[in-house]
Amino acid sequence: MRSIFILLISLAGVMLSAQAGYTIVVHGGAGNGLKPENVSPQRQEAYTQGVEKALQRGAAVLDSGADALTAVVEVLSVLENDSVFNAGRGAVLTYEGEVSLDASLMNGQNLEAGAVSGVQRVKNPIQAAYAVLQHSPHVLLSGSGADEFARLQQLELVSPSYFLTQKSQRALKRYKARFGLETSELNTNAKMGTVGCAILDKNGNLAAGTSTGGMTGKRYGRIGDSPIIGAGTYANNATCAISCTGHGEFFMRYSVAYDVHARMAYKKQSGSEAAQAIVHEILKPAGGNGGLIGLTQSGQIIMEFNTSGMIRGYLKEGQTPVTAIFKD
Ligand code: ASP
Repeated sequence: MRSIFILLISLAGVMLSAQAGYTIVVHGGAGNGLKPENVSPQRQEAYTQGVEKALQRGAAVLDSGADALTAVVEVLSVLENDSVFNAGRGAVLTYEGEVSLDASLMNGQNLEAGAVSGVQRVKNPIQAAYAVLQHSPHVLLSGSGADEFARLQQLELVSPSYFLTQKSQRALKRYKARFGLETSELNTNAKMGTVGCAILDKNGNLAAGTSTGGMTGKRYGRIGDSPIIGAGTYANNATCAISCTGHGEFFMRYSVAYDVHARMAYKKQSGSEAAQAIVHEILKPAGGNGGLIGLTQSGQIIMEFNTSGMIRGYLKEGQTPVTAIFKD
């Protein structure tokens, strides 16, 4: 009798772990410009294809045994190489007409984190963030020092012209025409294309990462939430993995990514309750546009935004990708 009981228990365990496949969630930025009438069908298709390609890359590496952290880096590298998004190659330009790239990454298993801000040479800032996590005693490296660190880690560096796309140059021109030449205003209504990813792997480990060019016309070395652990990115196996996008100043002031974790840990809210409260009841009244994606330890998908759209998608193991851009 006792051995039948033990057999049943272990069978249930095997079935449970077989059911618990991985899940990948990504965003490609949120904004009030993301309305069907503003985004051409070709552009919508480019966003959708970009997100699907990144999700499929994540699935391929997870299928071959990668853990959540490594897969987040792979997914975000695909998005950074796609000029339709505001990260890596397609990053928006500073007031001076250069890129200044930010990225961060966190491992929910052990709370290790790595980030870079203001890099201008490394092709994939998320890989530089990963190198900081793995090979330095630090969490955040900035500017030319971070580029030099990436070079010493044998990461691919590119010339400044790699990042100068027609799209980003035109956006800077429009920005200067609208806000004037002597401004440090941020155009918070522009379409944003920051990228982020959260993954729950088969072993129950969570990881999250975010990568961005920031906001068009940013000046004086402005840095947003994306490279700040706790603001733009957070992961903790006890609760959730979160990546944010939107007007970074607000996400920093409200420690948004960490707050999702904190509400789950201390207030016992579910992931979606926590995300809804922060995005709609805290950020929105304060004037903070944006949203976030994430996953909870139990595999619940979080996708919440207070703008007219957020480029987003998810993929559950063995299933096809699901994507969306606008409010449903
Ligand atoms: N959060 C980013 C920043 O403030 C921008 C974005 O997500 O669109 O730099």
